[in-house]
Amino acid sequence: MKAVVIGGGIVGVTSAYYLAKDGHEVTLIEREPALATLASAGNAGLIAPGHSFAWASPSAPKELWRSLTVEDTALRVNPIKAPGMFFWGLRFLRECNADRATRNTLVKLRLARYSQGQLDALTSAENIDYHDAHQGCLYVYRDRAKFEAGVKKMKLITDQGLQQQVLDPDGVVEADPVFRPVKDKIVGAIYGVTDASGDSVKLANDLADRCRAMGVKFHVGMAIDRLVASDGRVRAAQTRKGISVEGDLFVLAAGVQSTALARSVGVRIPVAPAKGYSATFPIKNGGEAAPTLGGVDEQLLVAWCRMGDRLRLTGSAEFTGYETTYDDRDFRGIMKLAHELFPEAADYSAGSYRACNRPMTPDGPPILGTAKHSNLFFNTGHGHMGFTMACGTSKLTADLVAGRPTDIPVEGMLLNSRP
Ligand SMILES: Cc1cc2nc3c(=O)[nH]c(=O)nc-3n(C[C@H](O)[C@H](O)[C@H](O)COP(=O)(O)OP(=O)(O)OC[C@H]3O[C@@H](n4cnc5c(N)ncnc54)[C@H](O)[C@@H]3O)c2cc1C
Repeated sequence: MKAVVIGGGIVGVTSAYYLAKDGHEVTLIEREPALATLASAGNAGLIAPGHSFAWASPSAPKELWRSLTVEDTALRVNPIKAPGMFFWGLRFLRECNADRATRNTLVKLRLARYSQGQLDALTSAENIDYHDAHQGCLYVYRDRAKFEAGVKKMKLITDQGLQQQVLDPDGVVEADPVFRPVKDKIVGAIYGVTDASGDSVKLANDLADRCRAMGVKFHVGMAIDRLVASDGRVRAAQTRKGISVEGDLFVLAAGVQSTALARSVGVRIPVAPAKGYSATFPIKNGGEAAPTLGGVDEQLLVAWCRMGDRLRLTGSAEFTGYETTYDDRDFRGIMKLAHELFPEAADYSAGSYRACNRPMTPDGPPILGTAKHSNLFFNTGHGHMGFTMACGTSKLTADLVAGRPTDIPVEGMLLNSRP
């Protein structure tokens, strides 16, 4: 069949790959002049089923409320800049109880573990090096009470068989010697033994090369303005200038823009932007003082990852609409972490900076499957875990397109199977 994938981030490119593998004639359309330049270019690089916890949790409303008056919270909302998010916000708040947070975390965990397996299989089959590291990730704590709460929370995912270890500061130094000089600043860490990290831009571009070799066509610099549908099927994706790309099936993988494109054919999907900040620095002195494991500082909620000879640091989640502006103040948390934990790791005067929007659903899991058009498949709303989950959701999408049984249950991921 003639398949049209809209969006050339990590989710769109992996969608194109699995569809091409199934023998479809695939065309991918990307608005920007290159692939993977938005959320997929700003992420922390963690492939982290061990960090599958739903953001909508019992503590989230308090944190968001605090953000209205205090500036230093990692989770922030600005109702003036994000007025269109009222209904999304209500749905998010509805998910903020213990039962729903548990259920949503378990859906995400199931998907993330499956996806990591698919990612490993794909990159080994296609022989792709994406600066991947597979020695685990460290979730580092500086505060004893938070550490104890984190260890308690961890049980939810270790009960599902995911390997995680509780480390004291000596254990943290053993796992990654970069922490030796700053050992007294931390109280411990949770070590996600099977978590990994890598560079999703490199993966997307190398995989796109493999796709081209399989005959996938890439149209970059082409913005789809709307979808055109009739008789319960989408017929074409159309640009503002009226250029139409017709197809037998369509995969909507346009990140935060998926919402507007779905709306053009009368479908409402609850995907909203959660802005994050990302900084990348050249590693110094061959990386002797740079972290080898990716991880997250659970105090500042800043994540890090080594990507070849660069160090990526990311932080913050702001509900401020679609804008992606930033200034120095937005990187305070990131720079605090850099100077406190990895002072000699990188040349912090030579950073490149960006802000980008995570495509978030209120409950957490991405949106797959169809709605009212039998040939429009959603693969969007991966939130803070799109790199981790991309291969999994794209393989599931190919299975749904083919009408094959999926390898894992998709309950909680389909638009209409969410309670
Ligand atoms: C600061 C930050 C840190 C993160 N850290 C991690 C992490 O450590 N691990 C992890 O797993 N995930 C992480 N994520 C999340 C992850 O990056 C995203 O979930 C993922 O990149 C989403 O991929 P995507 O392809 O859906 O979206 P995008 O990468 O945004 O791609 C969507 C593409 O669609 C294109 N598009 C949009 N509209 C149109 C249109 N009308 N026509 C044609 N093309 C269009 C866009 O140009 C874009 O290239 C992080 C995200 C952020 C912002």
